[in-house]
Amino acid sequence: MLALQGDVREHLTALAAAGAQAVPVRRPEELAAVRGLVIPGGESTTISKLAHAFGLLEPLRERVRAGMPAYGSCAGMIMLADKILDPRSGQETVGGIDMLVRRNAFGRQNESFEAAVEVAGVAGGPVEGVFIRAPWVESLGAAAEALAEYDGHPVAVRQGNLLATAFHPELTGDHRVHALFTEMVRAAG
Ligand code: GLN
Repeated sequence: MLALQGDVREHLTALAAAGAQAVPVRRPEELAAVRGLVIPGGESTTISKLAHAFGLLEPLRERVRAGMPAYGSCAGMIMLADKILDPRSGQETVGGIDMLVRRNAFGRQNESFEAAVEVAGVAGGPVEGVFIRAPWVESLGAAAEALAEYDGHPVAVRQGNLLATAFHPELTGDHRVHALFTEMVRAAG
């Protein structure tokens, strides 16, 4: 669990409920010890700058390139995007998912809302999508797959061992998305 900024505690609770052994990661040695990583919702520019300051950005890129499973919600989705449409100055991403994301995409009228979202690979009915100043995926490369759409835009995406959602399942008490990611980590061995 990348624990620099954002809703770390909520993810730790959801991961534990999904049967994962989750620990906070703030240093390169801690990153080296985990088999998968969750990047929380929060503020993607802040997470990016802190990751850089903590010497984690390059090690994160290397682990993701080497196939480590990673899941990002909201700001975490932005961190896993190869490209941001409207980056703030100094904002870098880890990348790994061939997609272009638009930050705060839903606009002022609709900054925060909830919607039922059907997610491919998550059985048992739609998940409650909590969107808080959420991004959407503007365009998706051929290697990436949209698992869910809202308003005509992908809001859940998978590419190999990387998973990203524009919404926050960690805030709902429904742990199926975290269970899906935990299963991806197990399958990666
Ligand atoms: N709008 C935020 C960003 O750009 C993301 C918001 C969130 O994670 N809830 O980083």
